[in-house]
Amino acid sequence: MNLPSTMRAALITAPHTIEHQEVPLPEVGPDDVLIQVELAGVCGTDAHLLEGHFHAKLPLIPGHEIVGKVVALGGNVRGFSEGQRVVLDPDLNCGTCIMCQKGMRHQCLHYEAVGVTRAGGFAEYVVAPSNVVYDASDLAPEEAVFAEPLGCVAWGITRLKPEPGSTALLYGAGGIGLLLMQALKASGVSEIAVVDTQTERLNLARKLGADHTFLASEADEQIKALFPHGFDIVTEATGVAKVQQHMVQHAIPGGKILVFGVAPEDVTIEVSPYEIFRKDLTVLGSFSLNSTIPLALRWLRSGQVKVRDLITDTLPLSGLSEAIDQKIAARAGSIKAIVSPTLILEGAPS
Ligand SMILES: [Zn+2]
Ligand SMILES: [Zn+2]
Repeated sequence: MNLPSTMRAALITAPHTIEHQEVPLPEVGPDDVLIQVELAGVCGTDAHLLEGHFHAKLPLIPGHEIVGKVVALGGNVRGFSEGQRVVLDPDLNCGTCIMCQKGMRHQCLHYEAVGVTRAGGFAEYVVAPSNVVYDASDLAPEEAVFAEPLGCVAWGITRLKPEPGSTALLYGAGGIGLLLMQALKASGVSEIAVVDTQTERLNLARKLGADHTFLASEADEQIKALFPHGFDIVTEATGVAKVQQHMVQHAIPGGKILVFGVAPEDVTIEVSPYEIFRKDLTVLGSFSLNSTIPLALRWLRSGQVKVRDLITDTLPLSGLSEAIDQKIAARAGSIKAIVSPTLILEGAPS
């Protein structure tokens, strides 16, 4: 395939600064796959990178939720062909450190990630080692672009191990919350209640399978009336400490708490150790994803997790800063923004 020597890319060049540049195409090593990006999802991690967190080495092309087509293969790569649609697990692992050898590859002591520590998908092309590339040829790009965030949800579910017929309470019906809600129902949860601050999001939650929805301002009383003994599972996709502090009180004795949202690093909460003790509770965390892209792809293929309604904004590369700096996320009804590097809006700078 004839490839250009340069490509358009969006780079974080300094904290709070995104620049659009023509940059050289990434080099393809012997174990690498070069992918022409079809879509890349925008997520909270991108906002953190833009603010200068994660000790990002700048300049950096962000973007770690990637679907695209294979356009070149390194000499050692087997099992992929040009033109094949694929998705990425952005977490790269060394394979030899203690965490990798424990099967916790996402906790690798030599952590590298596509779109976090090295060039990502807000560009026309991205390169990655073939061992983190997965076939997605039977999915539309608008579905496959959710493989990575749903892979994170899949790791949370793998940690949680919901029991058949359980009840669950979920705070937050944004993009991740609505994935988590559907994944819980695909994994044994038979009744789920969802809390959010926006009616639009709760309506979508109902459409996608929520059994009960509550506006945050009225939730506590209504929940207590309907589920006086609490829930088998209490979880959240908000990252808001006040919400996370709130979870223990709604857990049934023997229940499980899953902290899924990303709280600010320096925030603490007050939780009663007595209540955790007295109620036999299990408290779980879930970070990133760990070989869970295949499970995410199965949920997408089977239709058990539906994602098309979650995409509320599709933008060209030039719209990235608007998408990242939360102008879109803050708008009522907005769920998930994705970037299409091939999309050029009329009159907009490319
Ligand atoms: Zn993400
Ligand atoms: Zn490692």
